[in-house]
This record gives sequence, C-alpha cells and structure tokens, in this order.
Amino acid sequence: MRIDKLLANMGYGSRKDVKKLLKTGSVRIDGEIVKDGKVHVNPDRQEVTVAGDVVEYKPFIYFMMNKPKGVISATEDGQHKTVIDLLQPDDVFYDPFPVGRLDKDTEGLLLLTNDGQFSHALMSPKRHVEKTYLAEVEGEVTEADVGCFHKGVELEDGYVTKPAHLVILERGNLSKVALTITEGKYHQVKRMFAAVGKRVTALERIAIGPLKLDQQLKRGAYRELTEAEYDQLI
Ligand code: URA
Repeated sequence: MRIDKLLANMGYGSRKDVKKLLKTGSVRIDGEIVKDGKVHVNPDRQEVTVAGDVVEYKPFIYFMMNKPKGVISATEDGQHKTVIDLLQPDDVFYDPFPVGRLDKDTEGLLLLTNDGQFSHALMSPKRHVEKTYLAEVEGEVTEADVGCFHKGVELEDGYVTKPAHLVILERGNLSKVALTITEGKYHQVKRMFAAVGKRVTALERIAIGPLKLDQQLKRGAYRELTEAEYDQLI
C-alpha cells in the first residue's frame, strides 16, 4: 500500500499532514528515507519508522458496506464472489470480516471489521441489538401478522422469536413492510414470514441499532464508519 495512506490510517494526520511529515525526511522504510507519498510499502515485510519509532501496522478498521445481491457475506467461498472481493486491496490488507451475515440475495447494510470484540459486542444475543429490514412479501401482510410478530412467532424448528416490530408500508398482492428484530437467527426474517404463511421476495437491511445505511452508498460500495457512528454502536 502507499506509504501516505498507511501513515494516514495509523493516525499521523490527513494525507496533507502526512505529505508534510514525509517532506521532513523523518519517515523511513527499512532504514531508507522516503519523501514521496506514492511509494509503496509492504507492511508485512518492511519496517516503517517515523522519527525512529517503529510504526505498528494493523489498526482496527470499520467499514459500512451497501451489500449487493449475489455476493456471499463471508471471507472466502469456493464458488461465489464474497464481500471481501468488493474491497480495495489496501483495505483487504487489514483482514476484515463481515459482522454477522446477510443471505446471498439480501442487500443493504453490512459492517466489516477486523476487530473481534466489536463484532462480538454487536452480535452478542445478550445485547439485543436491533436490526431493521425492508421486505417485499408475497400476499397481503395484515394487522394479525403485526400482532403475531409482536408476540413472537414459532419457527419451523419450534423456536419462538422475541417480540419484533412490524410496520406495513404498502398493502396488496405484494406487500412492503419494515421489520425490526433483536435477534439474528439463520434466515430469521424469511422464516418469520414463512411462519405466517408468506414468502419474502426481496430483503434489504437498512439499520443496525442506531446506525442507518448511508443512502449515498451505491450497492457494492463501502466507506469507513465515522467516529460518531462507531461511538453510537459500542
Ligand atoms: N433474515 C433473513 O432471512 N435473511 C437475511 O439475510 C437477514 C435476516
């Protein structure tokens, strides 16, 4: 990766600050002074120092992605493209992984990090972090379904879901709904609708706790979380 990006990621200021720092001649790669921010460094194999201090490489990174359909939320898959394949090589360097999973055909808000504790805190069933989905559902979603979801529905394996908040946005042969759940069971949203005899035809996650999907992010695009967004989540 570029030395200016590495230093900026490591908290040595903005790219502009880093440019100035490089000009002072205090940055070295394997002992050689580097003044050009475009120079590439392999942080696995080369030692970077700033004013003699060795730069510690792997900082924690936190990305928000707008996951598109057709990619797997895993770090590797023998057959299909994964969300990691959508990242820039410089970002893959940090070994990020998805926080929880979205189905291959589900779109929307997915967090990626290399911070295990952060991921665990968000996924922990004890924390009951809310996840909100927009869904298109075949058939008419009714007030009775709203009541069932509020009480908890029994899934096909006998598990009874925790109270969930269902809002009907559009009624008709194809209903549009928003559903907020506090759990993350496998295929949970689809299975909850199946429990009331309905089929989900499209699913998008739009929020995790207070964090909303950035509407500026195109499908497949991602960006770093801001500090304020990070603080909201932990
Ligand atoms: N529930 C589902 O059924 N699928 C997802 O991807 C997420 C929640």
